[in-house]
Amino acid sequence: MRPPSALIACLIALLTFAGASARGPTDDVATNRRTVLAGDTALQVDVIGIDDPARVAMLQRWVEEAARATVLPSGRFPLRSARVEVREARSRGDSPVPWGQTSRGGGVSVLLYVRRGASYEELRADWTAVHEFSHLAHPYLGERGRWLAEGLASYHQNVLRARAGLLAPEDAWRRLDAGFRRGEAVGGGPTLGAMGRQRGGTMRVYWAGAAYWLEMDLALRRNHATTLEAVLDRYAQCCLDGTAHVAPDDFVAALDRAAGIELFAPRYRDYAESTTFPSLIDSYRALGIERSGAGLNFSDAPAARRLRASLTAQTPKD
Ligand SMILES: [Zn+2]
Repeated sequence: MRPPSALIACLIALLTFAGASARGPTDDVATNRRTVLAGDTALQVDVIGIDDPARVAMLQRWVEEAARATVLPSGRFPLRSARVEVREARSRGDSPVPWGQTSRGGGVSVLLYVRRGASYEELRADWTAVHEFSHLAHPYLGERGRWLAEGLASYHQNVLRARAGLLAPEDAWRRLDAGFRRGEAVGGGPTLGAMGRQRGGTMRVYWAGAAYWLEMDLALRRNHATTLEAVLDRYAQCCLDGTAHVAPDDFVAALDRAAGIELFAPRYRDYAESTTFPSLIDSYRALGIERSGAGLNFSDAPAARRLRASLTAQTPKD
């Protein structure tokens, strides 16, 4: 989920219209429904409480773009069906999407609150929608698996937006690095698996988790001729139940089975037992990334350039 901004620091697609405008069943509020299809999967997008057709169309376009960024290599969304609800809220803060949340009771749904008056450009530059849609690729993992869930969404909100052309590649790396630095700044504490929602630990949970998924994606690409998205795709097709509660160790074991290797589970155990932020040295060396003050330097070495490009170069999915 996206925590409140104060804490944050959280087809081939064919589009169809299913009821251009309707009234909600329990309130007299306009609901504009649009179904976004990818392969044999569908996202039902409801824009609620907004009467201006041009604004509704803009919000639908924004949601569709963000959703398209999370289409898997086989051309489908992770879940066969899910619902997205977009509402507007008054907000004094800067964030164009002050609140986002994924819930799993009675089907999986993503709720996005948009700041009243937020422009298309502001929404497109925000990470919240891709973050929330990235949560649709995993089951509910409980408190012990919160770092895996939030880490995956935090990793993907940057690399998937870059691949979709919503974020410049170097910006994606800078944003990932900024997150890692926020996680490092938390310092040590309980094991990552025991952090859950402990006060003050949010940044370690989100960004140590993101470091795990970056490490997995790099290992898959460098040593196993596959990618994290491809493994999640296989998992989605064999095993994913968006409303199931799956123990985190069972989830990573299932990813290893889907990939036919032993990678996710052993490193999961190392991370879950860690009491400090994970080292980024090996990942950054492979990527040719070096910290320089508050910024980053990028190596021109061909192998590092190729590896970075494989993760963040724009790769249109339609
Ligand atoms: Zn999240």
